[in-house]
Amino acid sequence: MSGAAAGPSSVYLANARLVRLETGNEPRPGGVLVEGGSIAAVALTDREQRDVRARAREVVDSTGMILMPGLVNAHYHSYGTLLKGTENSLPLEPWALYTVAYGRALGAEAIRLAVLLGAAEMIRNGVTACLDHFPHVRWADAALTAHEASGMRVAFAPFMHDVFDHEFLQIALPPEIRAALESAPRADATGAERMYRELAGRWHGHRRVTILLGPNAFQRCSPPLLEVWRRLARDPGFHAHTHLLETRAQAVRGRVVWPGGTVAEMARVGLLGERLSVAHGVWLTPEEGDLLARHGVTVVHSPASNLMLGSGRLPLPALLERGVPLALGTDSSNSGGRHDLFEVMRLALMLPRPDTPEPRAWPAPRRVLEMATTGGARAIGRAGVVGRIEPGQRADLVLLDPRGAGLAGAPATVPHLVQHGSAAAVASVMIDGVWVLRAGRILAFDEAAMLGQAAAVSAEVRAAAGPGLVLAETAAPFFQRCG
Ligand SMILES: [Zn+2]
Repeated sequence: MSGAAAGPSSVYLANARLVRLETGNEPRPGGVLVEGGSIAAVALTDREQRDVRARAREVVDSTGMILMPGLVNAHYHSYGTLLKGTENSLPLEPWALYTVAYGRALGAEAIRLAVLLGAAEMIRNGVTACLDHFPHVRWADAALTAHEASGMRVAFAPFMHDVFDHEFLQIALPPEIRAALESAPRADATGAERMYRELAGRWHGHRRVTILLGPNAFQRCSPPLLEVWRRLARDPGFHAHTHLLETRAQAVRGRVVWPGGTVAEMARVGLLGERLSVAHGVWLTPEEGDLLARHGVTVVHSPASNLMLGSGRLPLPALLERGVPLALGTDSSNSGGRHDLFEVMRLALMLPRPDTPEPRAWPAPRRVLEMATTGGARAIGRAGVVGRIEPGQRADLVLLDPRGAGLAGAPATVPHLVQHGSAAAVASVMIDGVWVLRAGRILAFDEAAMLGQAAAVSAEVRAAAGPGLVLAETAAPFFQRCG
């Protein structure tokens, strides 16, 4: 397979200003040559620009534009894009009952449309790669086929879990509610291991797709599933992604069950490592931050979701100070809301300020953009492959037009882009050397047809979820008291 059919294999983006965090906050004038899906050359001096331009088969004049690395959404659940506007005025534990009920009503066609709908939103926001943490594993191939058609780069992390929240959190339930909740399927170790190996066999090597281990959360896996996680994670071909310490109830119960808490127990059983990324981490203690830093685990900050579900706020300055690798995520449409990393970057920039008296400890805009680019690349297992404008990296690039009302009025520096950037400035997006958005139009797939179909299928899903929602409504009050 090659990207040649969908785009030119040799294109020079001329006369842009390049965002290269390693050289500072000022974008530098220059041009980028893309060949065979990779950045073949970065031209800075006049002479380099002339020489490199002469090598290209096609030249795209980008005068006045900012060229930045594509943003990476390192915690995302594609299925949620069809669930906008469903229950999101509850904390995580009762909220999860609703999202599970809706999720059961999804079929292969709904999943296909959910993936493409999310891709359209992300591409328009300058997001070129996502980590799709995917619960509905029987639809994994449908999701992956849609991801491939979307033009995006995807790290696909199917769930496994076999311990329910009411079991771990010891929530007292009437027997009929408990029985109904426990009629949901639980992963078995042999089946889970086979799923990961088979999906990896089928999909690794597809040019923009990788398969990750996606255990739902440490406390949601029994010892046999943890053993599958540990065994497969030793294979350098597998990165892993999981939820960690999202709510206070999880942190408190973790300290009761395991001496030293959840993170210490994960370290003890050998699950922490450089190929692991963890979403949320809201309730991490400084000592747990040290442990994650020592093992090189990436924490994916998902502030919009943490605010919407009332989970709390990640201690970002403390983690930065300890050298914990960090990335950013949007989570689910029915929890975090928009798949807009500009919004998430602004939240990461602002949220720590009221509680951090020393302004020098506030996250710098450059550090925040790093989280959304190289940090995300590390989380999805593509460190050194994407995230920078540098020869040899794959060409995941975003052209921003800084002349619109949102960005006009100041030089387009990194702090300015982080504070004032938005989808409105995203003019064109290239992924793996192929244009997926140009002049405001998505080229990778038929967006208008998808939007019409998504509206119809979303109505069907809401109707089909009816019976499951009755159980969610009955059970929710018991879960609300667990915090
Ligand atoms: Zn999540």
